[in-house]
Amino acid sequence: MISKQNINVALIGNPNVGKTSVFNQLTGLNQQVGNYPGITVEKKIGFCKLPNNIKANILDLPGTYSLNASSIDENVVIELLLNKNDKLYPDVALVVTDVENLKRNLLLFTQIKDLEIPTILVINMADRMKFKGISLDIPYLEQHLKTKIALVSSRKGYGIEELKQLIVSFKTISSEPCLNASVIDTEYFNSLRKAFPNQLLYKLWLVITQDVNFLNLERNEIRSSFTKSHSDLKRLQQKETIKRYQFINDVLKLGLKIDTSIAKDYRSKLDRVLTHKIWGYVIFFLILFVIFQSIFEWSKIPMDFIDASFASLSSLAAEQLPAGVLTDLISQGIIPGIGGILIFIPQIAFLFMFISILEESGYMSRVVFLMDKIMRKFGLSGKSVVPLISGTACAIPAIMATRNIENWKERLITILVTPFTTCSARLPVYAIIIALVIPDERLFGFLNMQGMTLMLLYLLGFGMAIFSAYILNKILKIQSKTYFVVEMPNYKLPLFKNVGINVIEKTKAFIFGAGKIILAISIVLWFLASYGPGEKFNKAEQIVTQNTINKPLSPADFENAVASQKLENSYIGIMGKAIEPAISPLGYDWKIGIAIISSFAAREVFVGTLATIYSVGGSENEVTIKNKMAAEINPVTGEKIFNFASGISLLLFYAFAMQCASTLAVTKKETNSWKWPAGQLIFMSGFAYAVALIAYQILK
Ligand code: GDP
Repeated sequence: MISKQNINVALIGNPNVGKTSVFNQLTGLNQQVGNYPGITVEKKIGFCKLPNNIKANILDLPGTYSLNASSIDENVVIELLLNKNDKLYPDVALVVTDVENLKRNLLLFTQIKDLEIPTILVINMADRMKFKGISLDIPYLEQHLKTKIALVSSRKGYGIEELKQLIVSFKTISSEPCLNASVIDTEYFNSLRKAFPNQLLYKLWLVITQDVNFLNLERNEIRSSFTKSHSDLKRLQQKETIKRYQFINDVLKLGLKIDTSIAKDYRSKLDRVLTHKIWGYVIFFLILFVIFQSIFEWSKIPMDFIDASFASLSSLAAEQLPAGVLTDLISQGIIPGIGGILIFIPQIAFLFMFISILEESGYMSRVVFLMDKIMRKFGLSGKSVVPLISGTACAIPAIMATRNIENWKERLITILVTPFTTCSARLPVYAIIIALVIPDERLFGFLNMQGMTLMLLYLLGFGMAIFSAYILNKILKIQSKTYFVVEMPNYKLPLFKNVGINVIEKTKAFIFGAGKIILAISIVLWFLASYGPGEKFNKAEQIVTQNTINKPLSPADFENAVASQKLENSYIGIMGKAIEPAISPLGYDWKIGIAIISSFAAREVFVGTLATIYSVGGSENEVTIKNKMAAEINPVTGEKIFNFASGISLLLFYAFAMQCASTLAVTKKETNSWKWPAGQLIFMSGFAYAVALIAYQILK
């Protein structure tokens, strides 16, 4: 637990320097993951036992290139470092760097150092030094950077104990700055110093230049008396960066040696193939193909197992517990509800396993680089590719996979459009309706019409996602600066520990985040479908008996007929009838209305609900349902309910409508606000309604 007696250690570093690996090395599984208040940036805190019985709270701050904030992630870092009252304000900062990118990584180090926080320089990936011909003069670097250095390899695990020793003795580390801020502009900074003699000069400078919330500084006062034009500030910031690099270059000139004859360059060869104009894409799509095949193949068995276990658990509960409302709630509401959450775990776990392997190996950065140009035209990022494609399995893990998109606007757009991609839950709906209304014929002798329709529906989903991203990019007024830095880390064998921890974290986040909401909605739906007002519901058995007095039904048919009678008069049935006027212009009757309402929780419920209504029982025996559905006649027009026009209308409705409570729950969790899922629901369902209406009116 976070404790005041523990020392606070902040881990800071550029993305891809191995900060997470160092964090994992220090803390193991002693981690807590949450969000920073009000925003969606992940907050990771871990605990670590140090020598001399000292304990530390290790705060893993988001990866950032510098303290010139351009994303919420970077704001988080600055806000913490400027706020001495924060209970996580670091006693000591560890700036993690990659020995191969020391020059660029040290920029951030010099900035942190200038905030006069005791700072340890962690030079990671030491295992690569021999291979790359790098040698360091540690005492020289320590002296000139005014710090202590830990040379570690978080991959091989060496240097970690020495790092822990250094953390314990943090009080002996100099907090002298690297750069005297007044070299940026002597006159300006001298007057700043005069006006606020008690404040750190570099802090004041950050207050003036950064758009972040500072709790303990009179930001407006400082800003109003030291205002400068935007371009002047930019100029001074550039000057600051140049000064810092001059300093770093001077230090590294003597402190770092690289013998290039040793460095073997397999990396550039591999890069040339993987980011090639043609081969790059081919390889990427092949990899995706393999991943999706595996996700489907491997998840099937555990998913079926979970499904079957919960079904038997549910019937066990129904048999063993005393009959009554509570038992019904447990066996029909709670158990299926929990099953409906857990069933997503295999897909989520496999997807994140693959994503972490691609990320860990360094390949993902190549994909992002490859796709970025294309995606950017639509307001998306190269990193949106993964969520959009993962959406074909399920939007829930896909939306969770948007977390590594740094730019908030691009991430939000990706979250909002991902549900348009055709997820696997749409398949049962598509399958039955296509079978009903699209003739099983071949076009030009070889193109199967039903297959073509299915493919068109997939393309429609992708097309709509890209198109709405384009529109959202135009209308969303969100300021988020990007200077896209294509980070090309080295290729590495993935670390099993990192992959494992990532999979566990993501799965846990899903179960405790979205899971709660899915469970709640399942219970509500159960209630609405299991209860109804009045006699028609409560005396269903008698009514069915009376109606069939002349030709008694078999026990199974009788039960089905009762279930059907009850559903029709349950609350949800009444709702179906209530919305009938709104959906009949789309070609649907009240029965389809019920299926639409109940499948709001999850699309695949559609087929099951129709099955119950047409009283063929709960089993999704499609042949029978199909026959029943094909035979349904509209009593007013005398036409078939499921004809070409209403079928196409339904297909389009399910392609676009936000019929998935779990997706809404995940969107809420990932955006930290009900505003976005509400927008998603209204827009997607409104659009689906309009398109289905137009299609039916034209085709009928
Ligand atoms: P972060 O983005 O800074 O959190 O970095 P990660 O911890 O995710 O690591 C980025 C990549 O560097 C991953 O592929 C790691 O496996 C790899 N990595 C981390 N530490 C080391 C190390 O000490 N040596 C080597 N060779 N690779 C490392």
